[in-house]
Amino acid sequence: MPALAGNGWMICGDAAQMVNAVNGEGTNLAILSGRLAGETAILAHIRGDYRARVLDQYTQSVQSSIIYKDLKKYSGIHGLLSGPERRVLFGKLPGVLNESLSDYMSVNGTTKEEKQKQLIHQLRDAAGGNVELLRLGLKGWRAINR
Ligand SMILES: Cc1cc2nc3c(=O)[nH]c(=O)nc-3n(C[C@H](O)[C@H](O)[C@H](O)COP(=O)(O)OP(=O)(O)OC[C@H]3O[C@@H](n4cnc5c(N)ncnc54)[C@H](O)[C@@H]3O)c2cc1C
Repeated sequence: MPALAGNGWMICGDAAQMVNAVNGEGTNLAILSGRLAGETAILAHIRGDYRARVLDQYTQSVQSSIIYKDLKKYSGIHGLLSGPERRVLFGKLPGVLNESLSDYMSVNGTTKEEKQKQLIHQLRDAAGGNVELLRLGLKGWRAINR
């Protein structure tokens, strides 16, 4: 998250990078940060002082709100999605999932149990083996639990 306030300015929502890509949310963070900025603006208006030392109250409000806590929790996701794993995450895995789910939903004489086993095998192969799949899962878990 960038600096949120300075002399005569505060930023909220998308402009302040308050977007949670994992949960597909940003509207709620924009609304809440807008409210917190509004409350600080009222305070600054009452004092007649719009300098950073007053508007920094907004930064503190954001830091103790769910905005900061949630975004901190998911802060590892950017590194994961732009790191070396991106080839598997954006290339092989979606392809395998797409094919397997299409197969899973089709009636073709194969039982669901066999299809589930097949899916696990295909996912494992796409990730590069059991260890790699486990490693990827662990990295993913850590990336969304900072
Ligand atoms: C395809 C898509 C799907 C999404 N789905 C979801 C969802 O399901 N749930 C969810 O919570 N979030 C979702 N989001 C994210 C959500 O839309 C944003 O996080 C949210 O709208 C951010 O609000 P905001 O007020 O910060 O910015 P914005 O909504 O972008 O508002 C900024 C406004 O400022 C205006 N503006 C820009 N420059 C100037 C200027 N110089 N002068 C005057 N006005 C200006 C723009 O025209 C715009 O109206 C989605 C986003 C996208 C793109």
